[in-house]
Amino acid sequence: MNDDRPADCAEALARLFDFLDSEIDEIDGDRIRQHLADCDGCLHEYDIEHHLKTLVRRSCSDAAPAELHVRIRQQLTVLRARMETSG
Ligand SMILES: [Zn+2]
Repeated sequence: MNDDRPADCAEALARLFDFLDSEIDEIDGDRIRQHLADCDGCLHEYDIEHHLKTLVRRSCSDAAPAELHVRIRQQLTVLRARMETSG
């Protein structure tokens, strides 16, 4: 097992939603958190997602969370495609 290995950008982003939903265990959560703390790009990205997520939760009664969720996923897809292109 390599659970103490820091997550890379691809993994951090791939698991971002699980992390935000608290659907991953503590060790994985720590690895994602650790990566986010060391990586400005992902931290910036996570910050945006985190605020959006909070916003969704706060206004879930009259907003359209599903639609917002799709938009967040589209942003992540673009970011991941950009990382793959740049190597
Ligand atoms: Zn990163």
